[in-house]
Amino acid sequence: MRATFLPFSTPTIEEPEINEVVDSLRSGWITTGPKVKRFEEAFRTYVGAPYAIPLTSATAGLHLTLLALKIREGDEIITTPMTFASTVSMIILCGGTPVLVDIEAGTLNIDVAKIREKITPRTRAIIPVHFAGQSCDMDPLFTLAREFNLTVIEDAAHAAGTEYKGKRIGSLPSISIFSFHPNKNITTGEGGMVCTADENLAEEISLMKFHGMSREAWKRFAASGTPNYDILMPGFKYNMMDIQAAIGIHQLPKLDGFIDRRRDIAEYYNSEFEGVAELALPQYAPYQQRHAWHLYTPLVRIERLTIDRDRFMEELKKHNIGSGLHYKAIHHHAWYREHMPVPDSVLPNASYASERILSLPLFPKMTMDDARDVVEAVKTVIQQHRR
Ligand SMILES: *Cc1c(COP(=O)(O)O)cnc(C)c1O
Repeated sequence: MRATFLPFSTPTIEEPEINEVVDSLRSGWITTGPKVKRFEEAFRTYVGAPYAIPLTSATAGLHLTLLALKIREGDEIITTPMTFASTVSMIILCGGTPVLVDIEAGTLNIDVAKIREKITPRTRAIIPVHFAGQSCDMDPLFTLAREFNLTVIEDAAHAAGTEYKGKRIGSLPSISIFSFHPNKNITTGEGGMVCTADENLAEEISLMKFHGMSREAWKRFAASGTPNYDILMPGFKYNMMDIQAAIGIHQLPKLDGFIDRRRDIAEYYNSEFEGVAELALPQYAPYQQRHAWHLYTPLVRIERLTIDRDRFMEELKKHNIGSGLHYKAIHHHAWYREHMPVPDSVLPNASYASERILSLPLFPKMTMDDARDVVEAVKTVIQQHRR
């Protein structure tokens, strides 16, 4: 057994990130300023979006986007149950009603073919989530959205660097929202970015992210600025800091290399686990795309074992292997069971995955020895608990 604990994810922070943060601290300008502008510009250019708005998190991005779209009481938003809580929480906190559509069994992405039957006159938007960094099937989704005049908001928290049919996520005709939480493909500590081609929406979100103030603080206090400002609307406090952007500036150029490394490890797992009847491995979508491999999420076929998924994760821990849970399906969480119950029969694939899924260690700094330890531990746990 390996001597040290292997977490399921840990960020790659190197000297350039550290030096840039120290530079911000020494400069006296630590909040929103020139480094945020640099990171915004670099990220916007990388994904190919006309506008990008840096924020404190993807959750803030979802919040401001839904508010800017004037989502109100009774509006229905279609999304997937296989996502992080905030996708659905923000819909509810804006007064909207989430409508959950089941996932595909292989990719765990929203099943676009099942969206149409959930569209009603009150439907306003669709929020697909590019699960684990693999693009949803966007062409038929956009066709539906055009037919019913719906806005598409991509939850791209897993999808920095993901491509769909040769196009980067962030450049499609939609609003896309990225996360830079430490577990994501690149990090700013905490942080997020909204990307869009809609100039008015970008302006509205920019205004709302900082008190509804007519100009940003760093411009006001710079030599060229004036200290006067106006409040154009009540706003939030969701601005990214230079300290955060300092990290992002040096993460972004490494993103493609990070993804290559993640893919190598994921494909190693795939080849080692092929034919293991107790696992259902993640499947590639049939269309052309670039998977960013944010997560490696096999399903544990618990019907073939004497233990459930949670016990399986505990057993891995005894072998010094960490794992994550992405995700227990939304409708299986306590609040949703009580306030918006959905029977498992309505969401069969999500319900099935919810009780079997786990995330194995996958991050660029992992060595092939680490990956071998993971494979060995998984196979040992299976052997010891086979039915
Ligand atoms: C991480 C994540 C979020 C939230 O991102 P934050 O930056 O932590 O707010 C939203 N949706 C999905 C699918 C995520 O994985």
